[in-house]
Amino acid sequence: MALAERLLGLMPEGLERVFFSDSGSVAVDVALKMALQYQYARGETGRTCFLTPRGGYHGDTIGAMSVCDPVTGMHGLFAGMLPRQLFMEQPSCGFDQPFDPASLDNARQMLEQHGKKIAAVILEPVVQGAGGMWFYHPEYLRGLAQLCRDADTLLIFDEIATGFGRTGKMFAAEWAGISPDILCCGKALTGGVLTLAATVCNKRVAEGICRDGGVFMHGPTFMANALACAVAGASLDLLSSGRWRQQVGDIERDLRTGLAPCRDMPGVAHVRVLGAIGVVEMKEPVNTRTLQAFFVDQGVWLRPFNRLIYLMPPYVTPAGDTLRLCAAVEEALRQGAHLS
Ligand SMILES: *Cc1c(COP(=O)(O)O)cnc(C)c1O
Repeated sequence: MALAERLLGLMPEGLERVFFSDSGSVAVDVALKMALQYQYARGETGRTCFLTPRGGYHGDTIGAMSVCDPVTGMHGLFAGMLPRQLFMEQPSCGFDQPFDPASLDNARQMLEQHGKKIAAVILEPVVQGAGGMWFYHPEYLRGLAQLCRDADTLLIFDEIATGFGRTGKMFAAEWAGISPDILCCGKALTGGVLTLAATVCNKRVAEGICRDGGVFMHGPTFMANALACAVAGASLDLLSSGRWRQQVGDIERDLRTGLAPCRDMPGVAHVRVLGAIGVVEMKEPVNTRTLQAFFVDQGVWLRPFNRLIYLMPPYVTPAGDTLRLCAAVEEALRQGAHLS
């Protein structure tokens, strides 16, 4: 109860009810079920599908996997039993570019065409994480929220990676100044110490589900596990000191400085930094085996995947260490450690 109240105090306006679960993937499945039950409770029984952009990552349980990017989310491998969802284009307008309203065209078209089937739109706000480490324009989210209202469907933000300051705002939704109907958080909720996640919703969703004595049909055995909640409380104490702003700001500055030399190196497609996230996107997939071995030799631990070498240092990273990580990336590219 105390943790739920504190959590809501940090959340965008309008989010008022909390459901705790054991992991991020489960929190996403809970969000999908909330949306389905809400639609069912108001008689919209045909709304059984979810719409989501390509390039997303939402977890590894069946429901969460069904809304991951169909290629990197390994839909081929599990095609036989994954629910079929609707996919739209990745938000194409980058975080630092002038906003291009045409980046919403595909979302508008999909909602106009399939709106009556859609229980909710689900996406990671501003930063798509494990699906491609892509940073897109917050204005896209404002436009999408309006399209969802027009289509009378719900909006779900998966803030499991972005929540608790990672992008430089407490929640990435703040970049757009909007509040979704449902929001998932996890990961940094306990500072990464114990597994705990939360799915938070607004009054409309909660009261819709609970109308006529209904209850939300999900009951995790370890829901709001006392030990995990105590850890989350301690982590929120640290966050509420406000030091995270300085810490994330310092890491951001060092990532910008440290990764800048990579911009002009051969094979590099794009270098981007937002909050405590730094990404070097290559034109070709990197050889993760040789690259990782190189990093270990340099005394740093990074985990590149596909075309991406990325850094998400902990907020407590000591001064100098972020630059050291960046220097290792630069040196790897200089020596060609990423080539097979
Ligand atoms: C990590 C992650 C998940 C899954 O969380 P788990 O705790 O690993 O199940 C879901 N969505 C996003 C955006 C994530 O980064």
